[in-house]
Amino acid sequence: MKDTDWQDYSLATQAIRAGHRRTHEDEHSMPIFATSSYVFGSAEEAALKFTGKVPGNIYSRFTNPTVNAFQERLALLEQGERCLAFASGMAAIMAVGMGLLKAGDHVVVSRSVFGNTVLLFENYFGKFGVEYDFVSLTEPVEWEQAIKANTRFLFLETPSNPLIEIADIEALAAIAHRHGCLLVVDNVFCTPALQKPLALGADIVVHSATKYIDGQGRCVGGAVVASEEVIEKSIYPYLRTGGATMSPFNAWVFLAGLETLALRMQAHCDNAFALAQWLEQQPGVEKVHYPGLKSHPQHELAKHQQSHFGGVVSFELKGGKDKAWKLIDSTRMLSITANLGDVKTTITHPATTTHGRLTPEVRAAVGIKDGLVRVSVGLENIDDIKLDLARGL
Ligand SMILES: *Cc1c(COP(=O)(O)O)cnc(C)c1O
Repeated sequence: MKDTDWQDYSLATQAIRAGHRRTHEDEHSMPIFATSSYVFGSAEEAALKFTGKVPGNIYSRFTNPTVNAFQERLALLEQGERCLAFASGMAAIMAVGMGLLKAGDHVVVSRSVFGNTVLLFENYFGKFGVEYDFVSLTEPVEWEQAIKANTRFLFLETPSNPLIEIADIEALAAIAHRHGCLLVVDNVFCTPALQKPLALGADIVVHSATKYIDGQGRCVGGAVVASEEVIEKSIYPYLRTGGATMSPFNAWVFLAGLETLALRMQAHCDNAFALAQWLEQQPGVEKVHYPGLKSHPQHELAKHQQSHFGGVVSFELKGGKDKAWKLIDSTRMLSITANLGDVKTTITHPATTTHGRLTPEVRAAVGIKDGLVRVSVGLENIDDIKLDLARGL
């Protein structure tokens, strides 16, 4: 089947079937094309392919059939026109900035984005004369007030890490478009199985495939999904020249990851929801952050915008850092690691790891307390996960 033929199929089917164009060897499973370059039938064909007038593979920095299959499949899942894969999630975000920004431009960024994303704007784009302002993820008024004549795009992550706050994508897309800006959404926490930012009005989606798309903590990768125009004009030329390419092996792993994405996300969400409800009843727990709970400030928005509530839960313990560390150190099964989106449940103390580089004042401003613990709920039996946490509660 041609790739466009998958357009009308459901996400679970697209995630399994789309993107693979069977070769003359009639293979059933997607092969890894471990080749750096491709041969041309003639000098003329080589010349035409290099100008882009004739489509075809040239060199694996920017054309590889295994990587293409991953790109086509993820574009369909995100309901975007085109996807480009990158060496990591950070490389994908870097590509959006390098492709769209020039000195003197301005961006508005959520205060609650991934730590390295903050550093990318502050230390690197800032160094080359790009201005930036950080605003509250959940306050559309702040976003609108921060927009200036030279603002190029708004950048956010929803749900956020580690407090699982939800941004109103439709409202922020409307604000962005009213001021002639683009809206960029990091869709790592939900994946297209739970949330489709482009369908909600966003212009660009970025991914770290390292998390739920892989799903088993094996490979590092990333992607950008957007319109044909944005990709062709701004992102593809940067990938071709900048070279932060996804390897065919990693693309092959991610293709297999996508095949079970819908099923895994459902199971992650079911386990996370059950754990959040259980945590809310534990006397040592001060507060649970999970959008599936009625106590979550954006519970209604999450219901409207996402098809389920996600696999990450965070909670505050009475007793601050000592109690949080004691809980983490009492677990026997959970992995003490900052990665997320794995079938294995992971546990982290944000204030001293992922957010440890922030000053105590900034941490307080974004609401990351010393007693906060983040759990990326895996697919082990939920009773075993509860038992492991109960040891330290
Ligand atoms: C991990 C992560 C990234 C960065 O992705 P890498 O693949 O580690 O480079 C970006 N955004 C979010 C939300 C992440 O969790």
